[in-house]
Amino acid sequence: MFFFFAGGLEQQVRQVVKSGVGRCINCGSRADLVEYDKVLKLFFVPVWRWQGKDTLLYCQNCKFLFPQSHSLPPPPPTSSGGSTLPDCLRCRFCDREVEADFAFCPYCGSQM
Ligand SMILES: [Zn+2]
Ligand SMILES: [Zn+2]
Repeated sequence: MFFFFAGGLEQQVRQVVKSGVGRCINCGSRADLVEYDKVLKLFFVPVWRWQGKDTLLYCQNCKFLFPQSHSLPPPPPTSSGGSTLPDCLRCRFCDREVEADFAFCPYCGSQM
């Protein structure tokens, strides 16, 4: 069971609709399109539950739920663009820019 706490209101993933449709705005990993329930909790006891109107994207990597409109488009096949900063590397696991002298990716923890 996956949880996301926001005050007393919790969004609980009900089922994955489609996997890998977007990218996490938090860590850049692949995010799944999910249906979710909203659960109102008081002192960790669920008192009310209703179905969410829309689907959300859910990142398995950092357990982050966010609206699909905020998601990054899936990574392009191979870009020839040179927008990468010279003193930055790109993590090959989560595709985020990491300073060149980092031994480990601060976003996903992978070895650079
Ligand atoms: Zn994430
Ligand atoms: Zn990484």
